[in-house]
Amino acid sequence: MTDQRSDVRIAFINQKGGVGKTTLALNCAAGWARLGFRVLLIDLDPQAHLTLSLTPSLEESSLERIEIDTIEAALRREKSLSECVFEVPKEGFSLVPSHIDLSGAEGELSQELGRELLLRDALASVDDDFDLILLDCPPSLGLLSLNALAAADEVVVPVQAEYLALQGMAQLMKIIQLVQERLHPDLKWNAVVPTMVDSRTRLSRDVVEELRIHFPDQLTRTLIPSRVKVAEAPSFGLSIFGHDPHGPAAGEIEDLCQELVEKLSLTLPERDVVI
Ligand code: ADP
Ligand code: MG
Repeated sequence: MTDQRSDVRIAFINQKGGVGKTTLALNCAAGWARLGFRVLLIDLDPQAHLTLSLTPSLEESSLERIEIDTIEAALRREKSLSECVFEVPKEGFSLVPSHIDLSGAEGELSQELGRELLLRDALASVDDDFDLILLDCPPSLGLLSLNALAAADEVVVPVQAEYLALQGMAQLMKIIQLVQERLHPDLKWNAVVPTMVDSRTRLSRDVVEELRIHFPDQLTRTLIPSRVKVAEAPSFGLSIFGHDPHGPAAGEIEDLCQELVEKLSLTLPERDVVI
């Protein structure tokens, strides 16, 4: 691509549900915001778990438009994506919300010419405002996920360290490859992150070992353990840094964010510091 974008877009994708995509995207957004990146988190899942997880932290005044100024409105081009950005002041990043109606929109939009590029086009209205744009994908490889892959620079695949963890990975790799061949040759896939790891169990250790064999270049050093505090945080509308900033889970997310800065070659743009 020849455009001069200043943002890096990262799709958190795995067509399996419940593997930790939303939780990881939210916590990485908070971790990267703490490192100084201007982060936008986009909820692409009609189930809107990310949106629901952050709603308690939104400003009272913005709540009345949370079901109107959504990613659906932006994909339908009823709104510019920049009009659908909500600040999450406690966390220091921003959100584009989703809504259950997005599932209907996915069907309708699939009739459109250029349907895989709707998100990429919509992002043009925000690319100067953010350094990192994180795309929280739905648990499927339908049109919304294709839009995420077509718009992304990097793919992060969270994999739950559990029985059948690798099931579906071949299909996901095939889709990424097809997107690279047909839509977006610059799409990179540099990270596989084991989530909900319980290193006391043999199964968890075996899954990480298997991931190491299949994805030696992508597998992150940092493993994300299963932690009660991580599971609790969204019920308070917070990331792990807001909920338990000094606990071990915050340190693990911090390590992962740092590792991904290197692995994905993320650079913090120089900015004049306003004091
Ligand atoms: P996905 O977006 O892939 O469907 P979620 O992020 O919603 O997955 O996570 C599925 C469930 O697992 C949620 O209930 C979430 O709280 C829990 N979970 C995710 N990551 C962790 C973790 N590191 N420790 C404990 N629970 C987790
Ligand atoms: Mg999710």
